[in-house]
Amino acid sequence: MKQSLYGYTLVQLQDLVCNLNLKKYNGEQILRWLYQSQVKSIDEMTNLSLNVRESLNEKYEVYLPKIVKKQVSDDGTIKFLLELEDKNLVETVLMRYSYGNAVCVSSQVGCNMGCSFCASGLLKKVRDLTAAEMVSQVMTVQFELNKSSERVSHVVIMGIGEPFDNYNNVMNFIYCINEAKGLAIGARHISVSTSGIVPKIKELMNEKIQINLAVSLHAPSNEIRDKIMKVNHAYNMDELKKVLVEYCNKTNRRLTFEYILLKDINDREEDALKLINWLEGTCSYVNLIPYNAVSESDYQRSSEKSINNFYNILKKNKINVTIRREFGKDIEAACGQLRAKSEAQRKWKYVQKVIKD
Ligand code: SAH
Ligand code: SF4
Repeated sequence: MKQSLYGYTLVQLQDLVCNLNLKKYNGEQILRWLYQSQVKSIDEMTNLSLNVRESLNEKYEVYLPKIVKKQVSDDGTIKFLLELEDKNLVETVLMRYSYGNAVCVSSQVGCNMGCSFCASGLLKKVRDLTAAEMVSQVMTVQFELNKSSERVSHVVIMGIGEPFDNYNNVMNFIYCINEAKGLAIGARHISVSTSGIVPKIKELMNEKIQINLAVSLHAPSNEIRDKIMKVNHAYNMDELKKVLVEYCNKTNRRLTFEYILLKDINDREEDALKLINWLEGTCSYVNLIPYNAVSESDYQRSSEKSINNFYNILKKNKINVTIRREFGKDIEAACGQLRAKSEAQRKWKYVQKVIKD
């Protein structure tokens, strides 16, 4: 099986060509062909000599996943269901903002964190995605946007998977899309969302790149968070707060807390007050997320009234707070939902086949 040429930084591409006994400058040429000219094959890299292209072709290819399904929402959101080389499925979403086009990238096939409200968490992790597979998600969207001469301007790692359970590949992916001579997506236009894996937040503090960090908090106290997020048993809210205060002091980077409002679970007035208390000392803002019903779980969406009430209490207490705009409501663009459905259908077909045979 050939390896993908996507996912390498400039230095890594230079190493790659040197290992093939090619010239170091071929590395930069390949980077430009892949991400600036956006060719889909090595043969199109016409300023590389035939010999160079042949050496590359022996081991490498420009691999793009198969688009199994493409759903376009009324609001312009596009959700792609992508099939990887080993037939695993992931999803990638294009969201359109007034300030640009953001791609929501998946970092794993499934997720092991098991948050009880999340469709991705219902499917156990099958494997980590490689940096190349994450880049290929961005490129799939970029090829779609080329039709209207637009570009991917923002990347959020908030699709299926826990990015910090796949830290090295995710960071490699980030450095790759940030390459000035490549896609050149600015660090401040890249966000990564974690359920709160404390040692990896510490590692991120020492990275030489100013990306945005989002933390999925979803609860105002350990008592509630323990019930809805298993990760809280490993790293509770006290440890999380400690590392985040350190993170804020050290990096001065933007920190966002995500908070899904679940009816009667974490959306009461007392919850808002506890949250305000907990947030003290973190240089943050809170993104309130209306819950998207997952058919396998019993949670309910908070009422408009509760959402607004929660928002107003935070606002009154000088917390920077927004209510997340919902993308692609008509195409189930919430984390993991499309894959969950297709995977379930696929498994059911397989079971039927086994019974028949
Ligand atoms: N694993 C990482 C990143 C992927 S999940 C994390 O948990 O941060 C990212 C986000 O998906 C969650 O924070 C939440 O905003 C969203 N999400 C998951 N399930 C959802 C649901 N049922 N309704 C609305 N948003 C959901
Ligand atoms: Fe995994 Fe994030 Fe879903 Fe939790 S919310 S199960 S960490 S993808």
